[in-house]
Amino acid sequence: MNISLSFWDLDFYKEQDYILLGGGIVGINAAIHLKKLQPNKKVLIIDDSWLGGGASSKNAGFVCYGSPTEILDDIENSNIILAAELIERRWEGSKKLLEMVPPNIMDFNKVGGTEVFEDGTKVSKDDIILLNTLMLDVTKIENYFQIGEQSISNSFHSKSVEMREEGRIDPKKMMNYLYQIAIGLGVHFLNDTIIEIIASENLINLKKYGQIKFGKCGVTLNGYINQVIQSSNVTPVRNVVLITEDIPDLRWDKVVHFNKGYVYFRKIGNKILLGGGRNIDFDAEYSSEVAINQKIHNYLLDFLYSKILKTTKVEVIHQYVGILGFGNDKIPRVKSYTDTIFIASGMGGMGVAIGSKVGLELAEHLVK
Ligand SMILES: Cc1cc2nc3c(=O)[nH]c(=O)nc-3n(C[C@H](O)[C@H](O)[C@H](O)COP(=O)(O)OP(=O)(O)OC[C@H]3O[C@@H](n4cnc5c(N)ncnc54)[C@H](O)[C@@H]3O)c2cc1C
Repeated sequence: MNISLSFWDLDFYKEQDYILLGGGIVGINAAIHLKKLQPNKKVLIIDDSWLGGGASSKNAGFVCYGSPTEILDDIENSNIILAAELIERRWEGSKKLLEMVPPNIMDFNKVGGTEVFEDGTKVSKDDIILLNTLMLDVTKIENYFQIGEQSISNSFHSKSVEMREEGRIDPKKMMNYLYQIAIGLGVHFLNDTIIEIIASENLINLKKYGQIKFGKCGVTLNGYINQVIQSSNVTPVRNVVLITEDIPDLRWDKVVHFNKGYVYFRKIGNKILLGGGRNIDFDAEYSSEVAINQKIHNYLLDFLYSKILKTTKVEVIHQYVGILGFGNDKIPRVKSYTDTIFIASGMGGMGVAIGSKVGLELAEHLVK
């Protein structure tokens, strides 16, 4: 008997129609749509942190559709159909996000995106024609990718590729709003650590609460899913993020991509957020351990001081680590685990763009 829980605690949660494991952007959207589809059903989100302590509140807040070198890499490593589908998922997902959260609430700003290069654009005119054909199919926008002149720093090549539809948000404000919507609709929350799913009995085993029975369950644990379902085929990947102090004369304001999206930076007010760099030490970064990789930290510092700023007279005031989840299939989809359990984990580096749509799709699978 668990004497730390009251009768009321036990009674409140004991049996749920739907349980979402994980309250990041995917879990919270799924819960909202479940309540909209079936208002009388009991919907519970279980998470061991508040307001999505996973990637959903640690990301860079890019609302983006893939940088040229990233899309070309997808085409080379998979095929053009997959690359087109990925663009479409991001495009449709971003539209859903903007439907779910009013742009001003999450500080959405369509500042435009740019890919910068070290020496030469590495994207040929033929590449641009190919990328624009893909983009036109999805978005109906002509000449979406355009060769431009970058003005961020003369350490980068003068030519960049510009992507005018990209933007940025404050992810914490996004999550906060989604939580308020969910609470307003009657979604319940339980702050606990999930230990295992007993699939054959539709039970969740929790560290503090004990066991809860569900009718159906959506697993949205992203990079942490292996701690609960080992056969999920989702790999955790770590990313380091640095934030500078205020820098008075930053004249650019874009979301910036470098080297297939491995490095990214943007402004937050007058500060710079710079993250990524896992390509410097791939193997070490397949990890969900919250720790700073010194090699990557040093690489990012050097990138900041020698490439973006060309001075070391700016202080880094904060750094943190976020955990992404990458599935086998680069396109995140909802998968059935059993008749009653569905997995929507492994959003890669694009959960802001696609998480709202995947959450909706998960809800639709669960109510079937
Ligand atoms: C540093 C960084 C930068 C990024 N930048 C961008 C970007 O600019 N644009 C973009 O589109 N995407 C970006 N991403 C990716 C995006 O943030 C993710 O794809 C997205 O947030 C995933 O959402 P999710 O709901 O699937 O998972 P998460 O937000 O990770 O949610 C999983 C939840 O499960 C909970 N949990 C895990 N294990 C347990 C357990 N055992 N018990 C209880 N709870 C548990 C966690 O607390 C967490 O809240 C970035 C990610 C990182 C880390």
